[in-house]
Amino acid sequence: MQNKLHYANIIIDDPLLKENYGFLNYQILLDLMDKHNFFTTIAFIPWNYKRTDKKIAALFRERPDRFSLCVHGCDHTKGEFGVSDIEHLDSKVKLATARMIEHEKITGISFDRVMVFPQGIFSNEALDALQLNNYYAAVNTVPMPINGHRSSNFPFFVRHTPEDIITGVTTNPIFVVLHHDYFKNGYKKLTDFVGELNTRVKIKWDSIGNILNCFSTPSFKSNNKQANVDLSGLDLYGYKEFLKILMRRYLSDLRDNYLCKNDYIFYYAKKVRDLIKI
Ligand SMILES: [Zn+2]
Repeated sequence: MQNKLHYANIIIDDPLLKENYGFLNYQILLDLMDKHNFFTTIAFIPWNYKRTDKKIAALFRERPDRFSLCVHGCDHTKGEFGVSDIEHLDSKVKLATARMIEHEKITGISFDRVMVFPQGIFSNEALDALQLNNYYAAVNTVPMPINGHRSSNFPFFVRHTPEDIITGVTTNPIFVVLHHDYFKNGYKKLTDFVGELNTRVKIKWDSIGNILNCFSTPSFKSNNKQANVDLSGLDLYGYKEFLKILMRRYLSDLRDNYLCKNDYIFYYAKKVRDLIKI
């Protein structure tokens, strides 16, 4: 075992905070985190700010030693942060943040100002927009912006799959990316991975915010003053886009919670979705 202390965090993208989301069950995950010692951050889609289940909100509030939230896009539309219009990006980040603050008011669950870009797509200007809005960092699966090399000095971390980490990718902190379908055949794959990692290196599992605070000298100031924005997004996009986003979100939930449990239906539903381009 290497003696150097590593920090680690597992990030699960997309799920609503409901008892079950797709193959994920929060209570089972918590029991496993207690038993095997690890920490999970949910990359939460701000659009879902009014949809959290009270029971799961209580679970998150009671167990900040195991669960935390960070920000996953704004509406989770394809490539929403892969544009270069800084004003538009600034409005997007403001809307995402205002929704997360509203979610915190409703549920009592705080969040870290850390962005995980949907589909890993982002531009250099998107990093600038995060910096403008006092975000701590971006943690992403894709290391490169759509417009070339990273030009911003905004803190940026790459995350990896369990398979990449086990086969030798070593970073510190270790950020792990997962989706609910990783649990399709139960949780053994996850607990085997955590067990293997915990024996290889000395690890402190923690929330992304706490980990980043250990990595930089000035501690991040969280400014939870809510910008005066229309939380529905209607002001920013207009009706047509608003409806498209609404449909996309509900169809994604349908896919994750029902369709993906049946491989045959899932295949054809994906085809239909590609055809109507939502
Ligand atoms: Zn996502």
